Amino acid sequence: MQRIALFPGSFDPITLGHTDIIDRALDLFDEIVIGIGTNSSKTPMFSLEQRVQWIKDIYARTPKVKVLTYAGLTAKFCEEIGARFILRGIRGVVDFEYEKAIADVNRMMDNKLETVFLSCTPKYSTIASSLVRDVLKYGGDPTPLLPEQVLKHINR
Ligand code: ADP
Repeated sequence: MQRIALFPGSFDPITLGHTDIIDRALDLFDEIVIGIGTNSSKTPMFSLEQRVQWIKDIYARTPKVKVLTYAGLTAKFCEEIGARFILRGIRGVVDFEYEKAIADVNRMMDNKLETVFLSCTPKYSTIASSLVRDVLKYGGDPTPLLPEQVLKHINR
């Protein structure tokens, strides 16, 4: 049976923190589906098409990584794509309680669904998409925060 993991999030935009988690999870799964959730209450800075395109560019040579968009329950989407695992990143204790609650609810929706947490590489522990958006909004240099494929587009 294929070990498929869903990595759900907003990826607005995808950061070096996200790619660190994805790259380190590659050996654990046969396929990683990056699922951009579209039912968040947050108004995104970047369009869905743009967020999808960046992820396609970054993982163009990594056939194990796919990108899809979804709305509705994460557990239901996992069933649709045959994913038994949800991948999430933990930056520190603040992330933990929130992530544990989400994992518990997802397991209530489907008790075969396991959430796998990877703790982030320390140098990326302060990176969050919301901080990246602030840096961009106020004209700061996002170079230490973003993959080159995203920087290339933003600097244009
Ligand atoms: P959400 O809107 O669900 O919080 P995000 O796109 O912000 O989605 O994050 C998706 C996942 O990536 C979450 O598990 C989050 O904890 C993780 N993540 C975000 N930034 C980092 C980082 N710097 N290091 C490790 N994991 C991260």
